[in-house]
Amino acid sequence: MKAFAYFRAENAVDATKLMNQHHGKYIAGGSNLLDLMKLHLEIPEVLIDISRLPLNDVEETSEGGLKIGAMVLNSELAAHPLVRLRYGVLSRALLAGASGQLRNMATTGGNILQRTRCSYFYAPDSACNKRIKGSGCPALHGLNRMHAILGGSAACIAQHPSDMAVAFMALDAVVVTLCLDGSSRQIPLDDFYRLPGLDPQQETVLQFGELIIHIILPPPPMGIHQYYKVRDRASYAFALVSIASIIDIDDRRIRAIRLAFGGIGTIPWRNKQVEEFLVSAPPCYPIFAQAADILLSGAKGAGENDFKIELTRRLLISTLQKAVSGDHS
Ligand code: SF4
Repeated sequence: MKAFAYFRAENAVDATKLMNQHHGKYIAGGSNLLDLMKLHLEIPEVLIDISRLPLNDVEETSEGGLKIGAMVLNSELAAHPLVRLRYGVLSRALLAGASGQLRNMATTGGNILQRTRCSYFYAPDSACNKRIKGSGCPALHGLNRMHAILGGSAACIAQHPSDMAVAFMALDAVVVTLCLDGSSRQIPLDDFYRLPGLDPQQETVLQFGELIIHIILPPPPMGIHQYYKVRDRASYAFALVSIASIIDIDDRRIRAIRLAFGGIGTIPWRNKQVEEFLVSAPPCYPIFAQAADILLSGAKGAGENDFKIELTRRLLISTLQKAVSGDHS
């Protein structure tokens, strides 16, 4: 790791002032950035430590939602009584991610900004458009078992690795930021991530130095909250396919539904056409199969990851069938 200067910010305004002055990198839990620095994929000359910012509360909003500080640890958020009671999908997604040790370090703001785990991205000697624009994407014809089947481009097919962001997507989360000029933005998570297109280095709409300070969740939607994750190991493994679901259903129809997917998209994936198709529909296999067709109509494998198309279909259908049968395991 290369030497760097270090500053600790006391509050959010202080952090943005330090960023204006030094043009460094923010560091909170460091659970992804330190890996990148050890491999010299990130070589910041200045680190601005934001881990002590007073942004570690989870509060109820006047609308009945939640305001989650950007420094709330993943383990604290998963165990918070209001999250467990009202936002089960979030608690389940958090506990499906990483390991206990990592969840004790990783923050809410950092989790949604974590970089892909594409093996070429982490190999300094390899070409990679996400690291070096225009250098190429060896994953397109190489090792791509973990890669995305939706949202990819000719430049990059790296999957987004976060579980928490998938639940946030289903919950219509809003990212609140502080910009370097002192202004604040509220960015719906739907608009937060950028598809890779020809410029996979730009992963979000954040501007330089813009600091995530809160995540706002609207009041919890009605329905049973679930997070199912298919992965190679029972823990400490990224999703091959995951699904965050909130389903309100009876014998005759689906009253309301939210669905978001991990492991299959270059960004946490939500296709509202699928939800619109399912709402008011009778809960039966042919309908579920049609929903899967809609979800996967643009899906494209790159060889080793072709299996994800069928796996996603089966996971979606089984999630819907479990909701009908009242199986909440
Ligand atoms: Fe790089 Fe993206 Fe290609 Fe992986 S998939 S090698 S991250 S450009």
